[in-house]
Amino acid sequence: MPCCAQTSLNFVKSAINARFVGKEPWQIIACTTSTVLLTVWIYNFVFDDEPIINRLKRTFFKYVKLIPSIRRKIESEMDKVNTEFERDMSSKTAHLKYFTTLPEKALSSTEILKIVDDVLSLGSYDYKAGLVSGTVYTMNKDIKDITKEVYGRTSYTNPLHTDVFPGICKMEAEIVRVTANLFHGDSKTCGCVTSGGTESILMACKAYRDYARAVRGVKKPEIVVPVTIHSAFDKAAQYFNLRVKSIPVDNNYQVNIKAMKQAISSNTVMIAGSAPNYPYGTMDDIEAISELGLKYNIPVHVDACLGGFLTIFMNEAGYPTPVTDFRLPGVTSISADTHKYGYTPKGTSVILYSDTKYRHYQYTVTTDWPGGVYGSPTVAGSRAGGNIAVCWATMLTLGKEGYVKATRDVIHTTRYIEKHLRDIPSIFIFGQPATSVVAIGSNVFEIYRLAGMLNEKGWNLNTLQYPSAIHICVTHVHAQPGVADRFINDIKASLEVILKNPEQPVEGKMALYGQAQSIPDRSIVGDFTRCFIDSIYYTPKGSAQK
Ligand SMILES: *Cc1c(COP(=O)(O)O)cnc(C)c1O
Repeated sequence: MPCCAQTSLNFVKSAINARFVGKEPWQIIACTTSTVLLTVWIYNFVFDDEPIINRLKRTFFKYVKLIPSIRRKIESEMDKVNTEFERDMSSKTAHLKYFTTLPEKALSSTEILKIVDDVLSLGSYDYKAGLVSGTVYTMNKDIKDITKEVYGRTSYTNPLHTDVFPGICKMEAEIVRVTANLFHGDSKTCGCVTSGGTESILMACKAYRDYARAVRGVKKPEIVVPVTIHSAFDKAAQYFNLRVKSIPVDNNYQVNIKAMKQAISSNTVMIAGSAPNYPYGTMDDIEAISELGLKYNIPVHVDACLGGFLTIFMNEAGYPTPVTDFRLPGVTSISADTHKYGYTPKGTSVILYSDTKYRHYQYTVTTDWPGGVYGSPTVAGSRAGGNIAVCWATMLTLGKEGYVKATRDVIHTTRYIEKHLRDIPSIFIFGQPATSVVAIGSNVFEIYRLAGMLNEKGWNLNTLQYPSAIHICVTHVHAQPGVADRFINDIKASLEVILKNPEQPVEGKMALYGQAQSIPDRSIVGDFTRCFIDSIYYTPKGSAQK
């Protein structure tokens, strides 16, 4: 040992000894124990799941809200918001009868179908004419006809009962295999049909958490994801107790690979990228993420929920796109939604793994339940066999040719809109739209004003925050003749009005989005959101019998 190190060691030793001269053994023990406990406490406090700044902020707001005058103010605001949300919901539905108890006598099918038509006419947006972003991905009549027939025949099936409905299981297996082949998997590639993109993502996160726990003994699992990744990953983190490390994006709205690399630790159970992401429609550098996964031996999930059923057909449709699937050796799973650009009715998505060893950790198995040995592949126990059959039928109705054509239509329309919007000087496009989403911002005026004016013209776009932006997700419904031009012209007409007075603040409903962003206490925004969800379950006052 070098002599200076030895000297300082001796110095520390004698300093400690001097400090404890004359102390009784119990005092030394008590002092040691409390020092250790304090160190552990400080360590846990500093290195908690949530950054220290967020926790301090949260605690601060928690105590501020205990001040009676502030608490009363918040409660009265919350009451107002609640009433507002309820009024909004009831104003849309009030002219219809509410069923609040089971009708004594059966309704006839004519009566029921009449009510269904009434209910369907409630929304004020013309999604069939292509005025709504995303949401409805096709109006294809062949698909509608066949799915109606197929659902009618399979609505009571349940693949949980494999012995009763082996044919539904075959259909599910075929959907998975076809999708695995489309994403260039091999004989080890496997997967499941889930109820939607969120469930597919939940399943991947669950599988990787349990895989890391079993294989590497990871007890404090973390996932490393771009800040632009879908909120389903936060949902997975909340459900499965994962820590989310959110990685910022570069100026081109792709995840910063260097920051992602730095965030990887011995607790990382998964890294992920979007192909593309929901907010901006930009594609992360999946090849680089795949390489990180290989280098650190960590599973890589590609969220292709939105774009998967476009990217796999884009090359053939004449729009070359980067490889984002199992051809990249680090990619271990892909989520791809059949109920988006797979054009099936809502209720299915596919989760794929490069290896069965991951899928095994997705399953839940209980071996000692009195009801028998119980194993199920996904979140649900019983599952809608009808949804699987309808998904299967849609895929076969379109065939590869149908998908390539639909993809060409969607991408052509998106590029057309993008090109014309880029020519307008007062707005800009975020990054490079990879598939079908175009996000719009402005440095000249408040972009939510444009959303508001388009709304008045019947458009329903999506609003983004941090920074303020709006986006359109182009579906096959927008590929109908005239829709793209109508969109571009409505934007131009709105801008003529807006630019007469560019400084004017946002007004009306759209102002809420701006305000929501500027509230520093995010728990209030959370409470508002909970009130909003409550309002979905609105029934008129007095409808409870007790
Ligand atoms: C829609 C979407 C999801 C989640 O899918 P759901 O089917 O709505 O649950 C996940 N990721 C992206 C990028 C999406 O656009």
